[in-house]
Amino acid sequence: MAYDFDLFVIGAGSGGVRAARFAAGFGAKVAVAESRYLGGTCVNVGCVPKKLLVYGAHVADELEQAAGFGWTLEEGHFDWGTLIANKNREIERLNGIYRNLLVNSGVTLLQGHARLTGANEVEVEGQRYTAEHILIATGGWPQVPDIPGKELAITSNEAFYLKDLPRRVLVVGGGYIAVEFAGIFQGLGSATTLLYRGDLFLRGFDGSVRTHLKEELEKRGLDLQFNADIQRIDKLEDGSLKATLKDGRELVTDCVFYATGRRPMLDNLGLENTGVELDERGYIRVDPQYQTTAPSILAIGDVIGRVQLTPVALAEGMAVARRLFKPEQYRPVDYQNIPTAVFSQPPIGTVGLTEEQALEAGHKVQVFESRFRAMKLTLTDIQEKTLMKLVVDAETDKVLGCHMVGPDAGEIIQGLGIALKAGATKQQFDETIGVHPTAAEEFVTMRTVTR
Ligand code: FAD
Ligand code: NDP
Repeated sequence: MAYDFDLFVIGAGSGGVRAARFAAGFGAKVAVAESRYLGGTCVNVGCVPKKLLVYGAHVADELEQAAGFGWTLEEGHFDWGTLIANKNREIERLNGIYRNLLVNSGVTLLQGHARLTGANEVEVEGQRYTAEHILIATGGWPQVPDIPGKELAITSNEAFYLKDLPRRVLVVGGGYIAVEFAGIFQGLGSATTLLYRGDLFLRGFDGSVRTHLKEELEKRGLDLQFNADIQRIDKLEDGSLKATLKDGRELVTDCVFYATGRRPMLDNLGLENTGVELDERGYIRVDPQYQTTAPSILAIGDVIGRVQLTPVALAEGMAVARRLFKPEQYRPVDYQNIPTAVFSQPPIGTVGLTEEQALEAGHKVQVFESRFRAMKLTLTDIQEKTLMKLVVDAETDKVLGCHMVGPDAGEIIQGLGIALKAGATKQQFDETIGVHPTAAEEFVTMRTVTR
């Protein structure tokens, strides 16, 4: 049967654009449908605008440090409207770049919501298209628990477009987004409280990292409240919000920001017209080659709920394009040792096993841990400490995990990701010459076993 397209991609986000561009580059006839914004979550309401706001908040640190280096500054003033307008301009520029990337690769771009009408058919704006392969890359959407007053709360989607910086903010959640946005609001001047339902935030991260970040955030005046959760939200007469906690306490604020995870975006996708099944968590079920339970339909990225990170969606998109249209170049995605950063203030960088995971996996573990005040702060009154930690297998000497909390952690951890992928040993770390004077050199100079 002749199809309209070899590949029809639903969603022009990180994974969808990568798959579409490369498939077209390999000679396939490709269409992409996008209902909302080119570049998807990462470009519009995720990584990129988030990082720009983090940079904005970080300026406060630089201003605080300036006096130690002899600079006298006039009283500073921050204008949220300017930051958001400049951010929006940059996002529009990126939207244009994504459009050009697709069109210049020969991809047919369809603007509108796509709905599956069969295992080889998609409907966009009343028009039906057939395709030999369909790729679902529809990403995710913020999930807010069903509590009275939830409509009064915002999520990351709205935070990027707030008209004014709230004077007081309650951030709910203890994952990446909660910790990053708490830092953004706090850094830009909002009185910020972070509420997390468990004992300590960032579940799944290394224990030393979680404790260290908690201490550093508290030093910065962030109000961290653990074992705390909201039962209901009410609007008060003066327009502020009252959050009643499950323990009965009442907190008054101007903004309640929920960052309690994301669900797969499956709204009106028409899965019922196909044989595509969901897994027990509600994400699209795929085999190791991203094929769903309907053989002509594949799925990648946040909608399959494996690792919700842009570089992972990109790698999955690449793998699908190669498997379908350039099989001789196909390589499976390696989900081991994925480096990642949390852009908190200070940031976290991490790759490999945490100490807890290494012990649980049965390794005999040696831990090397160092806490120090960064050189840059020695001329200031700031007492922030950087944490660096190596988790090593005592029997094989292999470095199992590298963890850091401190300035530029994300930048530093990328290179260590390569070392771990190459299977580096602690001896090879030790034999690597440091770059002096940097914080990063500590990763190759830690000699004393802490545990
Ligand atoms: P998406 O990028 O979400 O793209 C899906 C696209 O599909 C969207 O454009 C959507 O409009 C479209 N779509 C959905 N349904 C349909 C339909 N039926 N028809 C047509 N189009 C449809 N990751 C990092 O690696 N680093 C970070 O710093 C980082 N920061 C983040 C910060 C925030 C606030 C958030 C929310 C996420 C962040 N992420 C970060 C995660 C990252 O954004 C996602 O993992 C990544 O965007 C997933 O890519 P994707 O292709 O699966 O989906
Ligand atoms: P996460 O899954 O990281 O964290 C969700 C948090 O919300 C957890 O602390 C969880 O608690 C808590 N939570 C979940 N449900 C409830 C509830 N009903 N009531 C109260 N608390 C609840 O999700 P995020 O929304 O922060 O981010 C989504 C994903 O996006 C991340 O996992 C990450 O993959 C990606 N991302 C990556 C970034 C980066 O690379 N820098 C930045 C931002 C996002 P508990 O731990 O107890 O379950």
